[in-house]
Amino acid sequence: MTHSTDLNDTLFERAKRVIPGGVNSPVRAFRAVGGTPRFVKRAQGAYFWDANNRRYIDYIGSWGPMILGHGHPAVVEAVQKAVLEGFSFGAPTEREIELAEEILKEVPSMEMVRLVSSGTEAGMSAIRLARGATGRSKIIKFEGCYHGHADALLVKAGSGLATFGNPTSAGVPAEVVQHTLVLEYNNVQQLEEAFALHGKDVACLMIEPIAGNMNFVRASVPFMQRCRELCSQHGALLVFDEVMTGFRVALGSAQSVYAQAIPGFKPDITVLGKVIGGGMPLAAFGGPRALMEQMAPLGPVYQAGTLSGNPVATACGLATLREIRKPGFFDALAGKTRSLVDGLKAAAAAEGVPFSADCEGGMFGFFLLPTLPQNYGQVMKTEGVKFNTLFHGLLDRGVYIAPALYEAGFVSAAHSADDIAQTVAAAREAFGLLQKQ
Ligand SMILES: *Cc1c(COP(=O)(O)O)cnc(C)c1O
Repeated sequence: MTHSTDLNDTLFERAKRVIPGGVNSPVRAFRAVGGTPRFVKRAQGAYFWDANNRRYIDYIGSWGPMILGHGHPAVVEAVQKAVLEGFSFGAPTEREIELAEEILKEVPSMEMVRLVSSGTEAGMSAIRLARGATGRSKIIKFEGCYHGHADALLVKAGSGLATFGNPTSAGVPAEVVQHTLVLEYNNVQQLEEAFALHGKDVACLMIEPIAGNMNFVRASVPFMQRCRELCSQHGALLVFDEVMTGFRVALGSAQSVYAQAIPGFKPDITVLGKVIGGGMPLAAFGGPRALMEQMAPLGPVYQAGTLSGNPVATACGLATLREIRKPGFFDALAGKTRSLVDGLKAAAAAEGVPFSADCEGGMFGFFLLPTLPQNYGQVMKTEGVKFNTLFHGLLDRGVYIAPALYEAGFVSAAHSADDIAQTVAAAREAFGLLQKQ
């Protein structure tokens, strides 16, 4: 028994008795950085308060969904109203149509969309659709990209391009990942070789266009262009996993950023989650009409969900999307995020700490590395001990960033210039601690 007066410690001990590791999603346990997770009591705007009633400036925002900040009044009102009308019907509602229309309006590569309850479910269904529509089995993914925890996607690279992946989790039979080829992100040559070897068998290539599960790594424009060309040439579908980037890096999502650099660019299937639910369990996948009509009940690809298109979740997502599509929203959000990143860079430089950082819209990443990494191997060159010092240095100063060096960060519309200035000041002190190590 611990005899701590810290209520987070008390709750963590209690949680560990009844929940594996004390958490319902592994990264929350602080295993990488050490220490006790903060148990959140409540949140408002850019802040949350832990079990000790201590306030933190929140740069996780539920890992992306809280783009308006916590407890935005328009969203709270919509959810309260929806709750009074009923929690779940297992029958269609007008609100599902409204949310689908709202999504399609901003993401022109999608003509139809199916709503589900988690990003994992959406990614898994997108792959089933790609396989069903092409009649092929193989899928290509990239090291460091996370597409949810479906069996076929919990895979790391095999020993060469001719061999397929190895499971990264116990409980995933080798047979289940034998069709998944894992390549290095931003490596055009490997991509070309893989398509030369396996192109006719590839159902889809799935990618995080700006990878937020290895901190923040952009697919280079030439690499993305080759992904598109090779998929089209070989009859494979390009699946954009925009669960994190969708409605977060731009109103038109990451695909609109690439379309600016590559005329006419679009993916075949888009997977969404996080922001579109505004903090409630909601995700989606969509694409061209002919492809989406392969889904049951119209077509042979089966997929279903008791809580899919849930009336409370759709109300939350809809209210969120209606706020973020207001004129100037993304310019203001991107400006804030940019000022944070610039401030962090200046603070690191002032303390002589090797540092690089990048951002797009309301998503950012930073590295204790002199230049921005291009792939997972380079990201993992970060010294874990240094990251942990920075993490705890910030946490002690009331700034909450992801408790792992391979996660992105998120700014919300509720973060003020003052919050950002406080964060930069805290970071400068934390960088100072690094230099003393
Ligand atoms: C969060 C995330 C997922 C998984 O979504 P869940 O809702 O956690 O299942 C999939 N892909 C990407 C890119 C994500 O960031």
